Amino acid sequence: MIGIEGLVFPKCRLCPRQCGVDRNKYRGLCKTKNELEMASYNLHFGEEPPISGINGSGTIFFAGCNLSCVYCQNYPISQLKSAYRQVSTDELAGIMIKLQKRGAHNINLVTPSHFVHLICNSIDKARTQGLNIPIVYNTSSYDREDVVLYLEKYVDIYLADLKYTDSSLSKSLSGVSDYFEIATKALLTMYKTKGALKVKKGIAISGLLIRHLILPGHLDNTIKALEWIENNLPKVPVSLMSQYFPAYRALKFKDINRKLQKIEYNKVLSYLNRTQIDGFIQDYCNNS
Ligand code: SF4
Repeated sequence: MIGIEGLVFPKCRLCPRQCGVDRNKYRGLCKTKNELEMASYNLHFGEEPPISGINGSGTIFFAGCNLSCVYCQNYPISQLKSAYRQVSTDELAGIMIKLQKRGAHNINLVTPSHFVHLICNSIDKARTQGLNIPIVYNTSSYDREDVVLYLEKYVDIYLADLKYTDSSLSKSLSGVSDYFEIATKALLTMYKTKGALKVKKGIAISGLLIRHLILPGHLDNTIKALEWIENNLPKVPVSLMSQYFPAYRALKFKDINRKLQKIEYNKVLSYLNRTQIDGFIQDYCNNS
């Protein structure tokens, strides 16, 4: 088992990019230093039903990201960092408590991987102040396996992506060629430590839920991702998302410069119906 701070200093290797910067002085490939940067927090009602529940998910958005997805749907925060503020670990703990008091079913940490050492510190502090709702780790899955093991005592629920199965696709669209290898190891470790998603009275309490965003023109990628899940994590539910739109730099990429077509969505559904995979399917949501 690692000491997580030891992965950050003196040269950061906290995430699989292992860019080795001194985060006390410089920003890494995740565009951040050793200070928590929070874009916003609120009750969020747009997650999967057992995550949002009735009262909402206590969502905290962090700025920066260890991936550089050219189509990031959240790019003003993750890539451009156009609006955020620095928060201390004490302040973040206070925000977790505030969200719990507002009725949140969980604390939903969005894009936490590059701040995980500081976030764990805040969770420790918040727990001493009475935080007792589940912690959701909402991640691209580009996470180190040993960090996921470390998170066993901090995280209850993983909302974790499986974005790509192909190294040239992950390289061209997210800047890393080893995404599939890293993400699948992380997902297997999440499952090993937390099992599949467990829901009690309609609300998620623990376990892994895998998300996949269908990219236009890349149905083979989606099918291979679903195949991998069915073969390797058959008990884990999947959330299939159709909400893609060409954000950020996506208009410059011929293959993904449009929304998903209904015919593509239907092909994925037809494949899904032939599998044993269970979970959530977003309605077709191309409004153009
Ligand atoms: S967390 Fe950021 S600074 Fe650290 S290795 Fe990853 S990209 Fe580099």
